Amino acid sequence: MPVIYRDEAVVLRAQKLGEADRIVTLLTREHGQVRAVAKGVRKTMSRFGARLEPFMLIDVQLYEGRSLDTVNQVETIGAYGLAIASDYGRYTAATAMLETAERLTENDKEPALQQFLLLAGGLRTLSQDRHEAGLVLDAYLIRSLAVAGWAPSFTDCARCGQAGPHRAFSLAMGGAVCPSCRPPGSAAPHPETLQLLSSLLTGDWPSADASEARRRREASGLVAAYLQWHVERRVRSLRWVEREGDRPSIKVPTIDVAAIERAQAEVAPPLP
Ligand SMILES: [Zn+2]
Repeated sequence: MPVIYRDEAVVLRAQKLGEADRIVTLLTREHGQVRAVAKGVRKTMSRFGARLEPFMLIDVQLYEGRSLDTVNQVETIGAYGLAIASDYGRYTAATAMLETAERLTENDKEPALQQFLLLAGGLRTLSQDRHEAGLVLDAYLIRSLAVAGWAPSFTDCARCGQAGPHRAFSLAMGGAVCPSCRPPGSAAPHPETLQLLSSLLTGDWPSADASEARRRREASGLVAAYLQWHVERRVRSLRWVEREGDRPSIKVPTIDVAAIERAQAEVAPPLP
C-alpha cells in the first residue's frame, strides 16, 4: 500500500517529462522540498495542469515513492501565478524568490516551515501589488537568510552588540559594526540605507515604502552581496558533505547571484 500524504505547497518549478507528464518541485508546509511526478498534466483535459505552475499555492495530495512522489490531487489555495506573470517586475522578483527558496531548502523533505511561510507570504504580497516589487524581493531575501541562520544586524554591532546605529557594514561580521570592531574594507552605506534594510527585516512597510530610490538601490546591492557571501559558503560545505556522504549523484545547486542582481536591477525604481 503506497503511503498517501496531504500538504500545502508552493510550486517552485515544473519540468516536462515525456509527452504528457511533468516533474514538479514543491516547497511544502510540513515536508520541506518535495519533487513529484504529475501524470497526464499536459493533456488538454487535465484536471490539474494549470494548478501545478510556478508561483501557485496549492493543497496537494501525494503518493510517497522511492525517489519521486506522485501527485494524486491538487486544489488551488492562492492563484498568484496570473497576477505575478502579468507584470514583468513582479515576475522577475517572484522568479528570484522561487530560486532562492529552492536553494535554501534543498535537503529533500527536511521540514522548512518558516521558509514556506515566508515564500507564500511574499508571493501573496507581490500578487496583491501592495509594495514595490524590488522591496518585496529584498525583504524576502533578508528574511529567508535570517531563517537560514544568517540573521544580519542593521542597527547594533553584529560582533560586540554595542547599540547602534553604526556607519560601517561588514559582510564577514554579519552586518553593521561599531568603530572598534570595524574591519578594514568595510562598506559605509548611507544611514537611511541601513534603516531601510532594518525596516525590510522587521516588516516596517510604512517606513520601507517611504524610502528613496537611491537608498533602495544601495540596499539591494548589500542584500545581494550578503546573499552571495553566505550561500557560497553553504554550498562549499554541502560539497564536502556530498563527497563524504552516500548520495554521490546528489546535485548541488549553486545560487545564481548574478541573476538575483539582475532581477533587483530590473525591478528597482528609476533614479530620480
Ligand atoms: Zn562592536
